[in-house]
Amino acid sequence: MKHLLRTFYDDRMSCPSGGYSPSGEKPTSVYEDWVQHRLVKRVVFDPISIEELQMVHDPQYVLDVFSGEVSNGHGNTDAAVAESTRWTVGSMVAAAEDALESGMACSPSSGFHHAGFASNHGFCTFNGLMVAANRLLQRVEINNIGILDCDWHAGDGTDDIIREMGLQDSILHFSSGAQRLANSRRYFVWLDDVIKVMREARVDIVLYQAGADAHRDDPLGGVLDDAELSERDRVVFDQFLTQRVPIVWNLAGGYQRDAEGSISPVLDIHRTTALHALAVLQEQQAIRRASPQSFFQDDDSTHPLEQVNLKSIQKGKDFFKSRKLSLSRFGLEKTYDHHLEGSPESISHCIMVDFERRKKQSACKGTGFTFIRPGVFPLPRYCFKATLESPYPTSSGAPDDFSRLQICWFGDVLGQSIDEMVFLALGKVDWNATATNYDRYYV
Ligand SMILES: [Zn+2]
Repeated sequence: MKHLLRTFYDDRMSCPSGGYSPSGEKPTSVYEDWVQHRLVKRVVFDPISIEELQMVHDPQYVLDVFSGEVSNGHGNTDAAVAESTRWTVGSMVAAAEDALESGMACSPSSGFHHAGFASNHGFCTFNGLMVAANRLLQRVEINNIGILDCDWHAGDGTDDIIREMGLQDSILHFSSGAQRLANSRRYFVWLDDVIKVMREARVDIVLYQAGADAHRDDPLGGVLDDAELSERDRVVFDQFLTQRVPIVWNLAGGYQRDAEGSISPVLDIHRTTALHALAVLQEQQAIRRASPQSFFQDDDSTHPLEQVNLKSIQKGKDFFKSRKLSLSRFGLEKTYDHHLEGSPESISHCIMVDFERRKKQSACKGTGFTFIRPGVFPLPRYCFKATLESPYPTSSGAPDDFSRLQICWFGDVLGQSIDEMVFLALGKVDWNATATNYDRYYV
């Protein structure tokens, strides 16, 4: 079966903005062009909520844009333009989540990367890249995200929000527009470098802006000719998909017009991008078909993580973030090693008594020690130990002390990452009973 490009499109993404940029109406033009060329499979989605926009933007700025108090990125206060951004951002967010499962998804959206925390310019109102990144970072399996912005202009708004939210460690942001790429040779040196950095950092997903304004004929661009622009897209899709790194991509800028004033040169560029995306995807799917892994296949099989207690992991991850915890030690040993002979039941009993004793001792010393009692006997095969530190002091610590929490628990399964195992254990811990000064020092 021929695979199609999963495209998160809705008519309501498009709205005439009345300005120089055609981006307001571009979603529909591009989508219709792709339908005509039989490239797409449309996927429906919900618009983004005001509340979610407010998670990465100044809440008042968001309200002011919708009330018309401040102008949108197109320099007007048209309520319909503001409303359309809920659909463009919603498309990007939904496509990003889809890409995690399907390997690749497309949002035919533009107008994100100049939107900062509380400001806009350059035809950008809200930063859909950052709303999507923020949504993805809530997921336990996502540690870091790559944003590869190949629009010809600098992603200054994206940088602004990353700084404002302190996400420098979890988002690798590269913007070709922030470089001085005077010719195509330099462009490809830069591109190869950033792809290498992202691959080495093992980003969990790439958000790719395939800007059409990098073309050398663009009135606001660019240094690449048709073949080079095409090569750029091929390289990006190939380099990440062959490493099984999911990609969600969107359109970004493009301002060329033909003699009749239509944006057909821009449509040609975006269509080429879509063709490359599909070609690489189909190649990968053909390779994977022989593999038992579900990634990059079209079926609806669930992520293996969903088979474990995803809610507990999420709770633990929230806990980890909100308490600004860091993992300073993690250990694992076989439960029955280092123990004298006996039946599993009798050894289990001794181990439990030992843990209870240690728990009492550490309570006397004021150290947080939590032993998560297993629900089964004899004890599971492995004993895990993690030490976590927080900048907030425990009840007995001096104000400049770090809280330290040790957790011990048992388990039979080793298939998860260390982070997942720690989050799962942490989800069962009552931090406030361990570090009672936490609330007092929490700011
Ligand atoms: Zn641009």
